[in-house]
Amino acid sequence: MIDACSREAKPLLLIDDALDRIKTAIHSVSGIEKLSLADALGRVLAESVYSPINIPHDRNAAMDGYAFASRDMADGQAFTFALAGTSWAGRPFQGSLQPGQCIRIFTGAVVPAQADSVVMQEHVQVQGQSIHFSADTRALQNIREIGEDVKQGACLIAQPKKLTAVDLGLLAAAGIDRVAVKRRLKIAYFATGDELTALGQPLEPGKIYDSNRAMLGALLADPCHSVVDFGVIPDHKQLLERSFIDASKNYDVIITTGGASVGEADYVKEILQDCGEINFWKIAIKPGKPLAFGKIGECCFFGLPGNPVAVVVTFQQIVAPALRLLSGVPFAKPLRFAATCTTSLKKAPGRQEYQRGVLSQDEHGEFFVTSAGRQGSHILSSMSQSGCYIVLPAECKGVQAGDRVSVEPFSLLI
Ligand code: AMP
Ligand code: MG
Repeated sequence: MIDACSREAKPLLLIDDALDRIKTAIHSVSGIEKLSLADALGRVLAESVYSPINIPHDRNAAMDGYAFASRDMADGQAFTFALAGTSWAGRPFQGSLQPGQCIRIFTGAVVPAQADSVVMQEHVQVQGQSIHFSADTRALQNIREIGEDVKQGACLIAQPKKLTAVDLGLLAAAGIDRVAVKRRLKIAYFATGDELTALGQPLEPGKIYDSNRAMLGALLADPCHSVVDFGVIPDHKQLLERSFIDASKNYDVIITTGGASVGEADYVKEILQDCGEINFWKIAIKPGKPLAFGKIGECCFFGLPGNPVAVVVTFQQIVAPALRLLSGVPFAKPLRFAATCTTSLKKAPGRQEYQRGVLSQDEHGEFFVTSAGRQGSHILSSMSQSGCYIVLPAECKGVQAGDRVSVEPFSLLI
């Protein structure tokens, strides 16, 4: 079968070119707010943070054991030190270590200035207040030096960065409890279509339940987004136009699904053309060819297709990278790697395809992928059962069982 796009008057825009156009067309939001660490997970750091302290702040022990000065050791022979006290984590040894003395020390406890070595407790023999060290005792070990992790004044985290749990830990380790982050993106989303029925309502003949809005709401869940669901708008040009124009005044981004194609009731492209500007409205991917991107005033507009699988694919491949750029995070490529395809896959040349697959790994670490079954852009059930995209480049003419293919996992767990 000839792919529909080979009948297109103009060659379709390749996905990389579409992403380049997005990179050129959009700029990150400029507002900044200060947040406490508890609210900062997943937000985009707007100002680089420098450490006000050394981390570690004190020389401290990396082991539970005994601390001493190596100059007091007997060269190549066993030796014995007198126990002078204890340094606990949070309660340093108060005295000063005299020649021939050692102290009991615990992980994280301050090492006295005179000491330069900590020996694990398992490697000594304790006899009352005398601690015996063997001839093979190694000096100058198990001490964490001041500033070994981060030096005072050094850059702790450079902006821009979407803050992770580890970043919050690092900021907390430096005693920082507030950070400057980019403001949230204001996003409005709509579904369009006369056939759409709200959940909880009986399904009349010819109608369908609105699955796209449920998915879009979930796909948009991100700490960087402030999202408003505008519900369903019927296939009515004036109503759609008014909704788009109103939303464009108050939101950074509008996302719609449905009506982006060339049917009689598909008004999205027309409205975008009339009220704003279209950057592109068709791309060479499958599913997801009818995807409109443009602007109404300063507001970015993404008109996604109506078919549910195409909604997810276009959201993940086009809208999500755009939202990252708008949020202030640099562009990043999705994780892809090679796997052996265990089934044959049908494909016509022309568009880059995102077929859905089930990913597995054998006992040698080799990855295998199997088609998730029916690949229609309305078949959500096979997508729900799949774990990755099988990304087939535009020129690919099909895959035989045993061929190597590129896969893009949906999550980091398989
Ligand atoms: P359209 O782009 O409006 O021509 O829609 C393409 C296909 O997607 C049609 O079968 C629609 O019924 C279906 N569709 C459109 N919007 C939704 C939605 N919100 N939820 C589920 N299916 C939809
Ligand atoms: Mg429609």
